[in-house]
Amino acid sequence: MGYETMNRSFDLEKLVRPNIRKLVPYHSAREDFGEGLLLDANENSLGAPFPDDQELHRYPDPKQKKLRQLIAEWRGVRADNVFTGVGSDEGIDLLYRIFCEPGQDRVLSTPPTYGMYSVSANIHNIAMDEVLLDEEGFQLRVDEILEAVKPDTKILFLCSPNNPTGNTFGRAEMRQLIEGFKGIVIIDEAYIDFSDQKSWASEVIEYPNLVVLQTLSKSFGLAGIRLGITYAQEEIINYMMKVKAPYNINKLTVQKAIEGLQNWDTVQFRTDAIKKERKQLKDKLEQLTIVQEVYESEANFLLAKFSNAKQIYEQLAKQNIIIRYRGDQPLCNNCLRITVGTPDENERLISALKTLE
Ligand SMILES: *Cc1c(COP(=O)(O)O)cnc(C)c1O
Repeated sequence: MGYETMNRSFDLEKLVRPNIRKLVPYHSAREDFGEGLLLDANENSLGAPFPDDQELHRYPDPKQKKLRQLIAEWRGVRADNVFTGVGSDEGIDLLYRIFCEPGQDRVLSTPPTYGMYSVSANIHNIAMDEVLLDEEGFQLRVDEILEAVKPDTKILFLCSPNNPTGNTFGRAEMRQLIEGFKGIVIIDEAYIDFSDQKSWASEVIEYPNLVVLQTLSKSFGLAGIRLGITYAQEEIINYMMKVKAPYNINKLTVQKAIEGLQNWDTVQFRTDAIKKERKQLKDKLEQLTIVQEVYESEANFLLAKFSNAKQIYEQLAKQNIIIRYRGDQPLCNNCLRITVGTPDENERLISALKTLE
């Protein structure tokens, strides 16, 4: 219904690869029955080889119904708009597989940005076109991006807050791209909870071509459980459900993800603490003579320009302090990316940097 207001020429079926459109998905045993005398899936009837109260000998729910419902309520969408994957990486991989014909289709991204988009493009043999962010504020160059779109461009990747620059993109510019590009626009919101900007997740109800990625790896502190979330219109989610591995999310991950959501208050409290610490760390870095600029960040890391980034990176590593060298990325000459640590960790980093001045 809301679709009528915009993007009239968007045609999902035309965008989906023909083999995926026709795909008959694997039908797993646990889709039909979850209870009863279950002798249908060749599970081990004697159970796990250790005490277990989670029925770990049974396959997990292939549709993650409970978890998706909780996520939907939390972000104000419907469960049909939610896909849960093995990290955001699975979401990205599936979207390539659904929309991009290997050796033929193209995607578009705006470097400097997250490396996984182009790694995944290479894996799928998809050409990646790139339009650099603007040099001043790392913002989107909307006209140049729309000009770079070719007939076979299927996906546009926007990462906001952006990794490694840390900033968010202007909302009006992002909206222009969602409305102006006839393919799929993926907004990667891995760091959204560290930002003052509103998430785009609930807007997938308005925009049929909008896909939003989030993850429990950053603000929730659950990188180890590998849980990524994709929000999109129901038809796109249905395709993702069809293409994914039948039991992609295991029971232990579902349990910990639910625990995470039930502790959203703590997540918000911690996120606030990290934001305060980010400000402190930025101030301290700016006082160092070897630091030329620390960029504004709405994520849990800072990008900083040093006088000799490579050397500083290597010297720190010798002291067992590991940060990320990003000087090889466009517009990031002599830049290092620093994750905001605990107050104590940040103090140790600053002390070490002082010895390198
Ligand atoms: C860390 C990060 C992710 C998270 O990926 P997961 O597979 O969910 O751990 C996604 N996108 C960006 C830009 C990131 O920096």
